[in-house]
Amino acid sequence: MCETLDNAIKYGLDFINKGNTASYIPELRKVDPHQLGISILQSDGSSLSSGDYDRKFTIQSISKTVALMLALMDRGQEYVFDKVGMEPTGDAFNSIIKLEIRQPSIPLNPMINAGAIAIDSLIEGNDINHKFNRLICFFRKICHNDSLWYNEKVYLSEKATGFRNRALANFIKDSGVLEGEVEEVLDLYFKQCSIEIDCRDIAMLGAVLAMDGISPITGKTLISKNICRIVKTLMVTCGMYDASGEFSIKVGIPAKSGVGGGIMAAVPGKMGIGVFGPALDKKGNSIGGIKVLEYLSCEMDLNIF
Ligand code: GLU
Repeated sequence: MCETLDNAIKYGLDFINKGNTASYIPELRKVDPHQLGISILQSDGSSLSSGDYDRKFTIQSISKTVALMLALMDRGQEYVFDKVGMEPTGDAFNSIIKLEIRQPSIPLNPMINAGAIAIDSLIEGNDINHKFNRLICFFRKICHNDSLWYNEKVYLSEKATGFRNRALANFIKDSGVLEGEVEEVLDLYFKQCSIEIDCRDIAMLGAVLAMDGISPITGKTLISKNICRIVKTLMVTCGMYDASGEFSIKVGIPAKSGVGGGIMAAVPGKMGIGVFGPALDKKGNSIGGIKVLEYLSCEMDLNIF
């Protein structure tokens, strides 16, 4: 299987020249676009990696899955999905258009920025530090990695330039969706997006989802089966931005990408996969990462459909 991973990386590398790093976040623009790595973590706890799998990168939108799980644990399914919908948008992840033209004016799902910001406002805690600490502790437990923390430079870069996220947050505050103070919730969102991880960490997150909430390392139940099912379903319908349909047809694995270049995938009952390739396509997905997953899905027969 090691050879399959090496070949998947070789295959993906041929495509990365066609992509670019996320230029709208100044710190991400500086990242070397030529990197490509993968880790898989199987249900028996064994792991395999290839390429630039140990490079650190920021989690960005993949964090939306973790925040959603915590909000569901804190507030319950009914309360959460009263504030945020369950439907794909067909629009870019940072689009405001549907908020304005649809009634009720709630974000269509928790995987777009407006939805993720709304979800962050539902996480319990006395203040923003407490909320972030709860989130990072939960994430550390899932990844079995106590050293996870956020990248200060990326966080400050997002905070300084996140005008569109500010617009989204203000819009949903006005429509009564966002709870608490706009700037505080945004602070939590920017910190959460700046958490630094490598392929092994997100392979572990994918594996816990794949195993319906059970850690393949400790055998402990960390998340309920129902919450895992909700998150995996949203990953299928909305996880790869407005390319989720095409990804489902070509790869067929629940996955969530981030503009840092990561893709976290969960193959039900089998394994978690973490891919990193910071060169992105026009929709914001890792261009090499998608090709790596296409290759693996075909070679290892991972398509769930
Ligand atoms: N921090 C990024 C933003 O808010 C996350 C976007 C993403 O990874 O999709 O724009």
